[in-house]
Amino acid sequence: MLTVNARATPGPGEPFEPVTIERRDVGPTDVLIDIAYAGICHSDIHTGRGEWGPVHYPMVTGHEIAGTVSAVGSEVTGFSVGDHAGVGCMVDSCRECDMCLAGREQDCRKGNVGTYDGVLDGKPTDGGYSEKIVVDESFALHVPDGIALEEAAPLMCAGITLYSPLKHWGAGPGKRVAIVGMGGLGHVGVKIAAAMGAEVTVISRTRSKEEDGKAFGADHYEATSEEGTYKRLANSFDLIVSTISAANEVVDYLKMLDVEGTFVTVGAPPEPFTVPAFALIGGRRSMAGSNIGGIAETQEMLDFCAEHGIGATVQVIDADQIDEAWDKVVGSDVRYRFVIDTATIAA
Ligand code: NAP
Ligand code: ZN
Ligand code: ZN
Repeated sequence: MLTVNARATPGPGEPFEPVTIERRDVGPTDVLIDIAYAGICHSDIHTGRGEWGPVHYPMVTGHEIAGTVSAVGSEVTGFSVGDHAGVGCMVDSCRECDMCLAGREQDCRKGNVGTYDGVLDGKPTDGGYSEKIVVDESFALHVPDGIALEEAAPLMCAGITLYSPLKHWGAGPGKRVAIVGMGGLGHVGVKIAAAMGAEVTVISRTRSKEEDGKAFGADHYEATSEEGTYKRLANSFDLIVSTISAANEVVDYLKMLDVEGTFVTVGAPPEPFTVPAFALIGGRRSMAGSNIGGIAETQEMLDFCAEHGIGATVQVIDADQIDEAWDKVVGSDVRYRFVIDTATIAA
């Protein structure tokens, strides 16, 4: 066992505290990663505050992990000491079901094992707000040269969560794609959709992020707080990906779909959506959801990002700033992802 410094929340809404956690010994197919940076995803906050349902405490959140491999098991073939590596939202799955065999570990029939608040070998899993992690090499990602570790960490969740639906629903030349909400997920989505060649529109609440949105590659920028925006955008998009984290009137966005268009929510507000039948019937519109992506697709996304010079736009913080950062994320006061410098985790 390895004793590792981490930060944990002892209960819903309770401030993070320095703790030590145990990481398993490096097994034959495991890699040990010295974590350099851990991104703060809004899902950490939903989970850590118990907004999605019962969870276990104390909880070490964090599933946007990037660092350097410092040990490998005797049977590891894909990683060497010194490699830059990452871990995303999953650390295991059954590896046998049709979904796992198809590279869709996120949809494992037996449920994937979450990087935190999961159960592996009978023990709760601890996430990335920590100094080191041990993971089977099948669930580790290679961080390509050319993406700095702090900019790579958020790609492990935010990057794949946008890449997967954009690719699945055919974002590319000739497709009018809207990204709703320009936070951690949304800003990466804008960069990726633009790199895929789509015509990209940011739909934010205000104009405050317009310059950034255009710099990230958006062709158009719309603010819903301005009178008439919803009406003007009716029937305008082939694909809308919503990253909204809080209760919202989804029908306002369904009306923006053109005929046969698809609205995909990756945002996961705890409150249910209200969907009038006629918002979908007219024009044969679709509403869908998407959950992160598989391990192979996550590697594909990282390679795509390296090829296109894409990393997350981050604000690096110390571990003592986690509580403040969570509040800022909830208030959409982040440009565009907080990333914890794990060198500051030791108490
Ligand atoms: P985030 O950084 O807080 O971004 C969310 C954005 O949503 C905000 O920047 C804001 O954009 C917009 N927003 C927030 N409240 C809103 C409201 N009341 N009405 C309209 N827009 C609002 O969060 P994130 O880390 O990107 O995560 C976004 C959501 O995706 C969370 O619910 C998270 O749990 C979920 N998630 C899902 C997956 C998946 O696999 N499906 C993976 C990761 C995260 P503007 O300021 O531009 O308006
Ligand atoms: Zn996440
Ligand atoms: Zn499976």
